[in-house]
Amino acid sequence: MPVRQSFIPVAPDGEFPLQNLPYGVFQPPTGDPRVGVAIGDQVLDLAALWRAGAFAGTAVEGEPVFHQGALNAFMALGRPAWRQVRDRITELLAADGGSSLRHDAALRAAALLRQDAVTLQLPAVIGDYTDFYASRDHATNVGTMFRGADQALMPNWLHLPVGYHGRASSIVVSGTPVRRPWGQTKDAADPAPRFEPTRELDFELEMGALIGSGNPWGESIPTASALDHVFGLVLVNDWSARDVQRWEYVPLGPFLAKNFATTLSPWVVPLDALEPFRVNGPAQVDPTPLPYLRGAERSWFDVQLEVLLQSAAMRAQDAGAQLSLCRTSFRHMYWSIAQQVAHHTMGGCNLRPGDLLASGTISGPTPAERGSLLEIAWRGSQPITLPTGETRSFLADGDRLTLRGWCQGDGYLIGLGECSGEVLPAHAGD
Ligand code: CA
Repeated sequence: MPVRQSFIPVAPDGEFPLQNLPYGVFQPPTGDPRVGVAIGDQVLDLAALWRAGAFAGTAVEGEPVFHQGALNAFMALGRPAWRQVRDRITELLAADGGSSLRHDAALRAAALLRQDAVTLQLPAVIGDYTDFYASRDHATNVGTMFRGADQALMPNWLHLPVGYHGRASSIVVSGTPVRRPWGQTKDAADPAPRFEPTRELDFELEMGALIGSGNPWGESIPTASALDHVFGLVLVNDWSARDVQRWEYVPLGPFLAKNFATTLSPWVVPLDALEPFRVNGPAQVDPTPLPYLRGAERSWFDVQLEVLLQSAAMRAQDAGAQLSLCRTSFRHMYWSIAQQVAHHTMGGCNLRPGDLLASGTISGPTPAERGSLLEIAWRGSQPITLPTGETRSFLADGDRLTLRGWCQGDGYLIGLGECSGEVLPAHAGD
């Protein structure tokens, strides 16, 4: 069956075909920020379409949820409303449809803008941010480095999705430069801690689930219906200062090593677009999870992931040069998003629209699938060499780090867009 096309042309390897329709928040050249959908190299202004009556007969007909600088109000409406709106946008953009948009030049002029003419913002007001530690390969790599292969996984790891409450205020949108933080560090040989810019700035390849409809305080979300509460997925870079982390993390986990910045991709890919890419995860049989974590069949997603690095020297030689550091898939996670949501709410913790649940670093089973420099350069013992001859164990000032993600469909591609940031030098000391 031929793949359904939009009347706006999309290249065969384009990230934003009719099958994707990711939501974002954009600042147009004039006017206030509002909600849009990416199609090809354009952004569809949903506020303009709403004003023109294009959502009549849907759940948002009387709800100005798109005239806002955040997706939260739309997210709160729940999956039936998201499906109605997605179906309506599909009909408006389909090349084989008799849509008002296709045949109305004035409406097209009002509602379609080039993506390079707008500024993308964070897609939601993120009230709470939780970060998990759910890749067995990542946890095994890090555990092996610090405790040895025999004790790589802590005793709880195969029984529950380990996580911690992160910091929402310092989440930034892709493209925002990230300044190297200062912090306390202490190497084994140091008699006392030092205060200095981190020498071990790292990235973490992660995906994030943005919560749509939440749960009332005191109630929990079952694993089997947990994905109904997830609005969509984004790419996440959990920037990390490893030397700061090593000194501060005992006994409550990372704190300042993580709270200076977390970068998100701007386009939220709806779970409905990712439905064909749902898969089963690894067998969870030894041990079998407790009953409240069962029922997670097909709650993993086969999203291809890549991490790209460009140093300042590489950029000076060739503006487009990038070195691929990692290629893996989100499907390798041990704990799925559904299990993370169920575990998070099991004691009655309420999730709210716009909350971010990040997956934890995603590493796959082979060395080419390691999702952090800590693992790629194996704690500094195997530095990587860049095309310029430079070496890296951790990130240097001027490095630009980009995460990409996509799902290869039958005749189309679902792109996650990109999640990038450049490392700025630390502030000068006194
Ligand atoms: Ca992390």
